Amino acid sequence: MHVPSVAIRPQLDIVAQAPVPTRFGTFQMMVFRWGGNTPATVAGEAPWLSPDHVALVKGDLGDKPGVLVRVHSECLTSEVFGSLKCDCREQLEAAQAEIARQGEGAVIYLRQEGRGIGLGNKIRAYQLQVDGHDTVDANRMLGLPDDARDYAAAAAMLQHLGPTSIRLMTNNPAKVDALRAHGVTIADRVSTVVGVNRFSRAYLETKRARMGHALPHLADVPDPAPSSSRIACGDAE
Ligand SMILES: [Zn+2]
Repeated sequence: MHVPSVAIRPQLDIVAQAPVPTRFGTFQMMVFRWGGNTPATVAGEAPWLSPDHVALVKGDLGDKPGVLVRVHSECLTSEVFGSLKCDCREQLEAAQAEIARQGEGAVIYLRQEGRGIGLGNKIRAYQLQVDGHDTVDANRMLGLPDDARDYAAAAAMLQHLGPTSIRLMTNNPAKVDALRAHGVTIADRVSTVVGVNRFSRAYLETKRARMGHALPHLADVPDPAPSSSRIACGDAE
């Protein structure tokens, strides 16, 4: 049986929703399709990315101020396979846990793998990093932007969910600016707290030094004992 998606805003359809129990509690999982009735247009711009995005919602956010929100970009390597090269999985899980603890909020999960360059290019860049190039230089050697993410879909999804303002969980000032440019009212930026390890240290340091993330200096921070001490550091890819 084919159930068509329903247009709810220009370029934004809602495909389906259902409650999903997670390790952090039960969330309403809403699947949106960005591109509306013309997903081929979106696919034509970035055919390696899915136009289907997810909102993981706790509570009724309509007309509420200061709703806790994480706008998170897909990272298959860490979230599915447990890669230690970045902190994305920890950022996502920390956001789910905090939203569940507060009983209200949303994770907007965008399908823009590898900061929007797609999985194949991301792994090509990883291979260049084996040779000593950092994440920014690796992307540039491949002729790709440092950060190809777009937040128009996130803004439309948030407008549909209806909070009057949000508290954004991120260490990335550029993400705050990008969402504001799309009309999202951000009352506050909430720093996120995750761990660092010997594989992610260089990546997080590059985000601090070259991508403007509000992170502590990591060069002198020792590796934590397994699953123990944690420090404030990076924002997801
Ligand atoms: Zn990642």
